[in-house]
Amino acid sequence: MSTSTPAERTLVLIKPDALRRGLLGEILGRFERKGLAIEALVLRGMDAALADQHYAEHVDKAFYPPLKEFMTGGPLVAAVLSGDQAIEVVRTLVGATDGRKAAAGTIRGDLSLSNRENLVHASDSPDSAKREIALWFPDLP
Ligand code: ADP
Ligand code: MG
Repeated sequence: MSTSTPAERTLVLIKPDALRRGLLGEILGRFERKGLAIEALVLRGMDAALADQHYAEHVDKAFYPPLKEFMTGGPLVAAVLSGDQAIEVVRTLVGATDGRKAAAGTIRGDLSLSNRENLVHASDSPDSAKREIALWFPDLP
């Protein structure tokens, strides 16, 4: 009996700190080498309105104003990745939020020393993946 399940999609943002530091290829390469497929990808900015929508669950938190300034402060790469259990797999590859505490071997654990400038956003559930993909790639079939 096969244990494979249909490919799942997740939304990834490679944040402005990653592009500033020249880590786009390093980060994208980790996702590619894992076997995830890139279904959509764009280099663009995040304006204030998109930030408020994307981070709707965080807009009232104390860390949100500096997060918004950071995320709107330079170009980022948005991508839809797909694969078996892609949402959980990508979160595992990305690691814990705080780069100082994230496990070695994860993107944040290996490459970030910050709780805010932590290189990557990844959807955390099927509901958020669906919402975030619709927000960033409204025309994706
Ligand atoms: P994650 O990106 O791991 O899902 P959260 O959804 O909790 O983390 O937070 C969204 C983003 O807000 C984080 O990736 C990080 O950039 C920033 N952030 C979260 N908590 C803090 C904090 N305590 N101080 C500064 N920035 C934070
Ligand atoms: Mg989150």
